[in-house]
Amino acid sequence: MANLTVEQHDADTNDPEAARLSALQGLTRAVYWEWDLKDRCFRVPAGHDSSIWFPRLGPEGAPDVSLIAPLHREHVRQTLEEICNGSAPQEFAFQARAKASAPYKTLMLRTARRAPNQTTETGIVQDISESTALSERARLAETKLLDAIEFLEDGFVIYDADDRLVVCNRRYKQIYPLSAHAMVPGATFTDILKAGLAAGEYAEAVGREEAWLSERLEQHRLSELEIEQRLADGRWLRIAERKTADGSHIGLRIDITRIKQNAEALAERAESIRAILDTVVDAIVTIDTHGTILTFNPAAEQMFAMSRDAALGENLGTLMTGQNAFPHDGFISSYLGGQAANAIGKVREFTAKRSDGTEFPVELAVGQMEVGGEKRFVGIIRDISERKQLDRIKREFISTVSHELKTPLTSITGALGLLQGGLAGDLPEQGRELLEIAYRNSERLGALVSDILDVEKIEAGRMSYDMRECDISTLIGDCVSSLKTYASTYGVTVETTGLPENPIFTGDPDRLTQVISNLLSNAIKFSRQGQQVEVRADRNDGWFVLRVRDFGEGIPLDLQDKIFTRFFRVDSSDDRHSGGTGLGLSICKPIVQAHGGTISVTSAPGQGSTFEVRLPA
Ligand code: ADP
Repeated sequence: MANLTVEQHDADTNDPEAARLSALQGLTRAVYWEWDLKDRCFRVPAGHDSSIWFPRLGPEGAPDVSLIAPLHREHVRQTLEEICNGSAPQEFAFQARAKASAPYKTLMLRTARRAPNQTTETGIVQDISESTALSERARLAETKLLDAIEFLEDGFVIYDADDRLVVCNRRYKQIYPLSAHAMVPGATFTDILKAGLAAGEYAEAVGREEAWLSERLEQHRLSELEIEQRLADGRWLRIAERKTADGSHIGLRIDITRIKQNAEALAERAESIRAILDTVVDAIVTIDTHGTILTFNPAAEQMFAMSRDAALGENLGTLMTGQNAFPHDGFISSYLGGQAANAIGKVREFTAKRSDGTEFPVELAVGQMEVGGEKRFVGIIRDISERKQLDRIKREFISTVSHELKTPLTSITGALGLLQGGLAGDLPEQGRELLEIAYRNSERLGALVSDILDVEKIEAGRMSYDMRECDISTLIGDCVSSLKTYASTYGVTVETTGLPENPIFTGDPDRLTQVISNLLSNAIKFSRQGQQVEVRADRNDGWFVLRVRDFGEGIPLDLQDKIFTRFFRVDSSDDRHSGGTGLGLSICKPIVQAHGGTISVTSAPGQGSTFEVRLPA
């Protein structure tokens, strides 16, 4: 079988056919071959790409497959046998190299259809390494893309130019559970919509399925679409669709239920806040850090006789009068400068001004908030004109009544005192006791009336002080001696110690006597029988420090501040304390303050109390 060889044709310049074949071969990465069934010889024209393997026979006349990749060797050998026997397949791919030292290439061997009387098989071996690598790369890229699409948190879908489903991810099917069964590649968009309609998937379509379908299809035909869709189970979707250059549709489905719910909740909250702001009787005004009015509710419009439009942009200071106008620029800058203002979180009284210039008293509570990183203040302003007027009427009434009571009471007490002194002669034992009770009670009533009148004077700012030179030792001595009898009825002794060497200072002796007597009588009243009350006064560092100390029941820590407020009394099981009015200390405090001093208490329940009055010496 010596003729079983591969012949290489040199291009025959006289044979135009051969010359053309040779030239074509130079242009393509392919080898043309012929198998002569009669000669049993492969012929390969000259000028082919020498890096491409082509069919050849071994020395034994059998196809030489030594340069074929081992994995494909058997297959190529069989196929070449078939070609040699005249029954060739149309095409197949395999890997082979042109020489043992070269790398393998992916080749495609194709045979041409043979005419019935033709005695040669013709075919090509083509290097498809590059296109195979390209298509492999494309395949990998596609897999990656599909993977990525699959892992998207949103539903993703592609429909081709004929509106047939190409691909959709798992999330897309989860989003539309009722029509997921219809989402098979090749199904049309319309079919899938119809499946959803049949299952009642779209809330907006219920009862008008036909109309909804045609509307939806019309939207779908747009080259760009962004709409919201409500599903029957209450979920909300955002649909985004884009047409690509080849007419396909890319669609995204984003579940916006949570966003919608939040937006609805926010809208509801805003609505209820608006309703509150509209109906509340207090003026509610928000301002920025410069005091510029940002919001002005209907109550504010009414209170200040000013429309919202006129108020917005104005400074809140224009609605207040005087130095304390709040929140004026100075206040705000000092607040922002770190000096926490007294106004925040507290209720304070101011004088406000209507647009017509009339003034009225208000109570202002200021809160702080932060909006978008900027500080804002919200002021709740209450018109207290009516309350002030009622207070004044009440005070005047109490004052009048007290004044009217004071004169007859003084004469009653005086008359009872005279009777006690024996003016009407000796009275029987029972009569004396009754007289004693009447006298004590008329004195208590007198003290109460005086206290009420004092409170009223303090509140109205009408308390007058007769400031002159006084001697603290004398004041203390007078108080102690006038309370001697009182102390003895409680079985308590009063000890005065440490009177200062220079006891002279300026003050109102009557008012200060009132303070010292009140502290002393409390100390006596709250001591136990046999106990001592200590009074001492020291002068140091420009102050007189007066201390009244008892060893009685003491005052609970949390109530120690409160005892200086009007009508406050610590609950006591001891009957001896039932006679107090709860006004004494609330009168002492402003008297001491009017002298430029302070009053305070330190006390431990069960161990007694020390009241300390500091007066400028
Ligand atoms: P009053 O003594 O008339 O009730 P005050 O204003 O003088 O009114 O005192 C208010 C309350 O403070 C008293 O009711 C009592 O509960 C408490 N308090 C004042 N002084 C003392 C004290 N020395 N020891 C214990 N409690 C006292």
